[in-house]
Amino acid sequence: MSDTQTPIRLGMAKPVIGEREEELVREVLRSGVLSLGPMLDRFEREFGEWLGAPHCSAVSSGTAGLHLAVRACGIKPGDEVLTSPLSFVASSNVIVYEGATPVFADIDRETLNIDPQEAAAVVSDRTAGLLPVHIFGYPAAMNDLEALARDHDLWIVEDACEAIGGAHADGPRIGARGHFAVFGFYPNKQIATGEGGMVACPDAEAKALIDSERNQGRAPNMGWLDHERLGFNYRLTDVAAALGVAQLERLDEMLAQRARAAAWYDERITAIDGVSPPCPDRDGDRRGWFVYVVQLPAGADRDGVIARLDAEGIASKPYMPVIHLQPYYRERFGYAPGDFPIAEDIAERSLALPFYPQIEEADVERVAVSLARSLA
Ligand SMILES: *Cc1c(COP(=O)(O)O)cnc(C)c1O
Repeated sequence: MSDTQTPIRLGMAKPVIGEREEELVREVLRSGVLSLGPMLDRFEREFGEWLGAPHCSAVSSGTAGLHLAVRACGIKPGDEVLTSPLSFVASSNVIVYEGATPVFADIDRETLNIDPQEAAAVVSDRTAGLLPVHIFGYPAAMNDLEALARDHDLWIVEDACEAIGGAHADGPRIGARGHFAVFGFYPNKQIATGEGGMVACPDAEAKALIDSERNQGRAPNMGWLDHERLGFNYRLTDVAAALGVAQLERLDEMLAQRARAAAWYDERITAIDGVSPPCPDRDGDRRGWFVYVVQLPAGADRDGVIARLDAEGIASKPYMPVIHLQPYYRERFGYAPGDFPIAEDIAERSLALPFYPQIEEADVERVAVSLARSLA
């Protein structure tokens, strides 16, 4: 790095938007059908084909999708739903929206996903469902969670918002196991539509329910001012759907670019004393690369590291914090530090580094060199 030239700043994430996006967005704009049009159907159909789950319903965000999915499972006030404390707050908030109680279970130290044994230990007679999160794109232990669900008659909603492109050892892509599974399309996600989400539904009937609730409770052939159930405005615009269709055409390529960037990082991060890379794929499970999160050594000054990286033009984030220690959760449910020690330890030491399909090997090298220096 030359001293005289300021290097380009490396941000956390960057969507890849090209001519195809412009072309399809223009097609929607010229059609004049900006909502509930053919581009929406096309995005749902093509996403479902890619995923291997044919009944997909596009919604306005991942959060909206999770909300509709737990409702479709019949969540009710007083229910308990088992979920992971190491997640984006939305996975737990949707449980609270419906007057139910999120019950956290600590995570597996390697995969960072909910530990099925910890989950089994907190099942009660009020437990109604499981809401596993495939955090950082790594597949949750679905076989064990499905066994737990069978034993206790629980529904399952999968938060796959970080996990496009991941797959389970027994075959299916993450989100294609026949449960409700929800994806997100915020600009940092593997598919970026600005705002947006997709609900993979177990069957056509479930999709019809999601389609109705996202559209103010209208039935398919009802008038605009007729509503057969309580609904929401959780529609995805056709403009956003156009972005989704374009991104989907390049998805496999973009996922391969993310995996390549992760391999560049792995090589360099493992060489830094005390810093751990994300866990490698194991037992046939495959990560869908979303973020690159390292674990700093215990006792490292993470804020100092972030400041030093920032001074060298490199963004990094303390990603991600645990949900149960967010102010609202502490106050409402009485959680305190020490409740989920593994998740808390991981959250305190996690650092997300710049990561997106078009990051170059030289950029990754620069980040690794700066990180090593900032810890020395
Ligand atoms: C991104 C994300 C969501 C959904 O976020 P939206 O901004 O509502 O699309 C949900 N859960 C997790 C774990 C996420 O990372």
